[in-house]
Amino acid sequence: MKTGKDLTLIVGGGPAGSACAYELAKSGRYCLLLEKEEIPREKVCGGILSHRAASVLVGSGMISTQELEELTLRKHSTITFWDRGEYLRRYTSPSDPVRIVSRSRFDGFLLRRAASAGAEVLAGRKVESVDRVSAATSSGETVFFRHLVGADGTTSIVRRLVSGRRSRKTGMGLHYLVPLRELEREPEGLEVHFGHIPYGYIWVIPGKDSVNIGAGALGSPASPSDIVEALGEFMGSIKCPVSHRQLRGAAIPSLVLHRDLGMDNIYLAGDAAGLVDQVSGEGIGHAAESGMLVARCILSGDRRGTLLKNSGTCIDLVRQSIFYRHLLHSRPARGTAMMSLRDSEEFARGYWNIISGTESYNEMFSRILG
Ligand SMILES: Cc1cc2nc3c(=O)[nH]c(=O)nc-3n(C[C@H](O)[C@H](O)[C@H](O)COP(=O)(O)OP(=O)(O)OC[C@H]3O[C@@H](n4cnc5c(N)ncnc54)[C@H](O)[C@@H]3O)c2cc1C
Repeated sequence: MKTGKDLTLIVGGGPAGSACAYELAKSGRYCLLLEKEEIPREKVCGGILSHRAASVLVGSGMISTQELEELTLRKHSTITFWDRGEYLRRYTSPSDPVRIVSRSRFDGFLLRRAASAGAEVLAGRKVESVDRVSAATSSGETVFFRHLVGADGTTSIVRRLVSGRRSRKTGMGLHYLVPLRELEREPEGLEVHFGHIPYGYIWVIPGKDSVNIGAGALGSPASPSDIVEALGEFMGSIKCPVSHRQLRGAAIPSLVLHRDLGMDNIYLAGDAAGLVDQVSGEGIGHAAESGMLVARCILSGDRRGTLLKNSGTCIDLVRQSIFYRHLLHSRPARGTAMMSLRDSEEFARGYWNIISGTESYNEMFSRILG
């Protein structure tokens, strides 16, 4: 195992860690990635890969267009909006579909790609404790490093070094996987159902053989049991009783964006940095993009200031989502937002552009309002 003063240690082998390791290794930089699970590992997720996320990965050379096609279970260009059981509107995008991927396959691919670029990847190695110069693993090794990258998800141990404690503010996402044949009505594309959970929504995401039906809420007064209940009621309403189904859930970072992606020689990427869109819950692409940004900071001699302050980065997008989420979910604005989705093709197109990553919130609102 690598160790030493030139080493970058990356904790976590999700899209953030793999993308960071790939970028560093590609430039000949010495890096070690430790992942606590054996690979492939399961990740609770809707598996929507935005157009922006795909472009980041293909643009960096980490994945080819052909490989991305092979990893894609299904593509969607249509989204239907509902509010408390009432149909609002369907929108079909003429371009830029989103893709559905299996996270275990997709993440496994990215991790292998980082290893083949030259990163040392060790799975089944949990980082038990860290300080500013070294980390101790579950196998009893001590690793000394120059840079440390926390790509270890929502409950990041590395984030604690930067903020003093693990993040306690989390949102929650839960889902059932329902075989397609068990549904009374096959969904035409993605579905978003508002009005069941404050500051959250219920989603329907058709995959290859099954449909992911789930619910999530960010910065919401709803408790996890409120979300479970709302999802259970929804499943009942579409005649998909939940008694025999397995509910899977995971925390999602909520309102904990770390704009500087860490401090000094310690970096954060992906969920560990709070980089999840606070309206849609998208985080795969932001994880990969931030992992690459962190690698570029390290390669440039820690010039965070220049690289992270640019507009148009995933940090900027998440910052905008924290502001605009109130326009969709707050009590005074909710009614107008639902009416706009029902009555305005442009508004529905704007929502699609956000989830496909082809427009920022600022761009969308200035286009619609101006
Ligand atoms: C229900 C749900 C649905 C979602 N749907 C979508 C979606 O459709 N599209 C989308 O873009 N995003 C979605 N997201 C968000 C997305 O899953 C995350 O934002 C994304 O996985 C973040 O990637 P990451 O690499 O930062 O973290 P992760 O993918 O969580 O990877 C972190 C890795 O670190 C490892 N790790 C943790 N601690 C340690 C340790 N101490 N030592 C070693 N390894 C460690 C973990 O095992 C894990 O493999 C969803 C999230 C949830 C919960």
